[in-house]
Amino acid sequence: MAEKKNNLKEKLLYKPGNGYDKLTPAEEKKMIAYCEDYKKFLDNGKTERLCVKYCIKLAEERGFREYKAGMKLKTGDKVYFNNRGKAIMLAVIGKEKLDHGINLTAAHTDAPRLDLKPMPLYEEAELAYFKTHHYGGIRKYQWVSRPLEIYGVVVLKDGKTVEVNVGGDEGDPQFIIEDLLPHLRKATDEKTLDKAVPSEVLNVLLGSRPIGDKDDKDRVKLGILKILNEKYGIVEEDLISAELEVVPAGKARDIGFDRSLIAAYGHDDRVCAYAELAGLFDAKNLKKTGVCIFADKEEIGSVGVSGMLSQAFEWFIGDLCKGQKVDIRDCFKNSFCVSADVTAAYDPNYAEAFEVRNDSKINHGVSFCKYTGHGGKSGASDASAEVVGKLRKLMNDAGVVWQMTQMGKNDNGGGGTVALYLANRNIDTIDAGVPVLSMHAPYETVAKFDCYMTYKCMKTVFEKA
Ligand code: MN
Ligand code: MN
Repeated sequence: MAEKKNNLKEKLLYKPGNGYDKLTPAEEKKMIAYCEDYKKFLDNGKTERLCVKYCIKLAEERGFREYKAGMKLKTGDKVYFNNRGKAIMLAVIGKEKLDHGINLTAAHTDAPRLDLKPMPLYEEAELAYFKTHHYGGIRKYQWVSRPLEIYGVVVLKDGKTVEVNVGGDEGDPQFIIEDLLPHLRKATDEKTLDKAVPSEVLNVLLGSRPIGDKDDKDRVKLGILKILNEKYGIVEEDLISAELEVVPAGKARDIGFDRSLIAAYGHDDRVCAYAELAGLFDAKNLKKTGVCIFADKEEIGSVGVSGMLSQAFEWFIGDLCKGQKVDIRDCFKNSFCVSADVTAAYDPNYAEAFEVRNDSKINHGVSFCKYTGHGGKSGASDASAEVVGKLRKLMNDAGVVWQMTQMGKNDNGGGGTVALYLANRNIDTIDAGVPVLSMHAPYETVAKFDCYMTYKCMKTVFEKA
């Protein structure tokens, strides 16, 4: 009788579990090596522009060429399309014609940060600052009293573009936003977190050294401009055509005595971007053409010329189709897309926000997400049972450790990804990605096991979907 019961348990019950119980020593070695490469990607990609730059370097080392309109391509050819230095699409041409569809993975490489306002530079109380505008969803109090770096480009009066990278190299100065001392905290203690540190307080401290005559005004500001001018040829008006991003300082680091986790700025969504890129690099004998996308502007709605809504996507895929005399609509109709984006990992310290039975867990593998969205799934793509079933079977057959997820308790908030913008184009799409602790914080945490399984998921999609 007892034996019969156990057989039934074996047969009927779903038994998700910790991935380490399924990890062989050989696989663990590969996982650690993969994560070392991923950390290098993070350290070289603090902004979407730098991610694209580093992606091109990696791709060219592996034989990818820049795509030019009308380029003649054959099976096995590898190309990339650089969209204005801020987004990129890479393709490996498969054996089948494009009307059989393509296998797509789409992640984003923009991350929450502080952008500069158009007129950013000012002096007050003999201190010089940049005024900022937050980009994406941040909890503002997390950005005070921590070292910051500045990256980006400035287009000068004469049309020339200069690159600015300050704070990342050993010996570079860094920047900071002040916090209020606890001794005088009564001024803000009664306020909610959001009101105690509002966005307009996030002014970046640039310096304090006055220059020139003691009776002059704004001598610290002038001192900063003098440095910017000597180093980059910048005058104050040039800051109007600048795209400078203020991001948390520091490199990606292993976390924990056992080194099983990685903390870094911008795991969302560079952890999935790198997984799909490495997956495409390593995928063998592609039947269908594989396309990997680094999209920009996801954190503000995927809008604009470099976002997932941009027709740049149609231009690139359309031009590949034209080369094979295929209608792009036939290509889309038969395509499969994994929208590769992070999910919120269950956090026992904030258990009240989560739904323990359905949220993703650290070390339980790549997380599939049928729907994101707010309230009654508003803004979700909501993958069909057929699409979820297809991915599930693919992963089980390939031995990839995966879990199902959603996002916290109902009506407790929500989130979005690029999934719906691919699905809107008549492409079967599902979200899958790495569970993250403290998502959107300046320093986010992920598990190495989940990073590695997400890479294996992407590789399997390119090879088998
Ligand atoms: Mn994301
Ligand atoms: Mn995000």
